[in-house]
Amino acid sequence: MVSDPPVIPDELLPADGRFGCGPTKVRPAAVERLAQEAGALLGTSHRKPGVRSLVGRLQSGIAALFDLPDGYEVVLANGGATAFWESAVFCLVERRSLHYVFGEFSRKFAAAAGAAPWLDDPVRVEADVGSRPGLVGRDDVDVQALTHNETSTGVAMDVERPPGDALVVVDATSAAGGLPVDVRDTDVYYFSLQKGLGSEGGLTVALLSPAALDRIEQIRATGRYIPAFLDLHIAVTNGRKAQTYNTPSISTLFLAAEQVDWLNEQGGLQWAVAACAAKAEHVYRWADQAPYAAPFVGDPDARSSVVATVDLAGVDADEVQRVLRANGILDTDAYRKLGRNQIRVGVFPAVDHDDVVAYTRCVDWVVERLAA
Ligand SMILES: *Cc1c(COP(=O)(O)O)cnc(C)c1O
Repeated sequence: MVSDPPVIPDELLPADGRFGCGPTKVRPAAVERLAQEAGALLGTSHRKPGVRSLVGRLQSGIAALFDLPDGYEVVLANGGATAFWESAVFCLVERRSLHYVFGEFSRKFAAAAGAAPWLDDPVRVEADVGSRPGLVGRDDVDVQALTHNETSTGVAMDVERPPGDALVVVDATSAAGGLPVDVRDTDVYYFSLQKGLGSEGGLTVALLSPAALDRIEQIRATGRYIPAFLDLHIAVTNGRKAQTYNTPSISTLFLAAEQVDWLNEQGGLQWAVAACAAKAEHVYRWADQAPYAAPFVGDPDARSSVVATVDLAGVDADEVQRVLRANGILDTDAYRKLGRNQIRVGVFPAVDHDDVVAYTRCVDWVVERLAA
């Protein structure tokens, strides 16, 4: 018989129990604003001024947040990062891509490129889970695919231009808004909105450099078959009119625009980077000190400051999750395929520092209870 999970005392609990790594906490204030504006927005045409001004607001907010360099464009593509990988395979890779593979998400993009019969087999530069690969220069690739933050393992890589002139295409789905970047070091910095941007799924934002815009046109000119839904030329054309090719989720757009404006008001990317680093540091320091916990990522420089992974010993992480969940503390399970006795805590910009402190306090409480 499974006993009732113990009840964590109210005074120990976080104010908000959402610590998932995607989707992540959406700030209640943004949801309230959506409810206020819903009557004039939800259920209205994405070709009309209401929604188009929302798209424009999101584009200019993103440009400010990332200090967008001259000539770069903010493009919206339906389908999330997973769909964007397919767009990249059609519209950005000319012959051959190189992928830094150090977890599940980076592996999936490499697999998408590997499955495309019109491309040469991609180069994979792999690192063991929990570590990160170093950048390499190669003159036989035309895209270098980086993952700013490997959400499955809690490893971050620094975004730098590898030697050579391949396009630098960076999956920033969990990093955007929480990890430092100089967009000049990238040609494509793309991300879904349901992680650091505190919104919902289904849409990708991509920051495209002049070289990336050229590549899209060059490949198009070769006559390669490109499905319209994945065609970045069409996405760019629509982006210039503050539109998307097909119908977007308006609530996703709205919540993202709210989050980006909020980040800019707080002090922009620099503020968010420092705030996330402080929250992650709390988790890692706690894990270093707790006798039953240890940071999963050995190299402190490789530890993510938006996704903190912590191995547990002598206590069953699933049991811990069961008790936390019964008490409203949600989604801190390890990435399922990693198969480790681990907790994984999203400390994205929307998550309050005090709640992260409350989280580790609750884990201590639960572990003590389970040991008794
Ligand atoms: C979540 C995630 C994805 C997948 O995003 P979807 O919006 O579900 O397609 C891709 N890459 C990284 C790094 C992620 O964290």
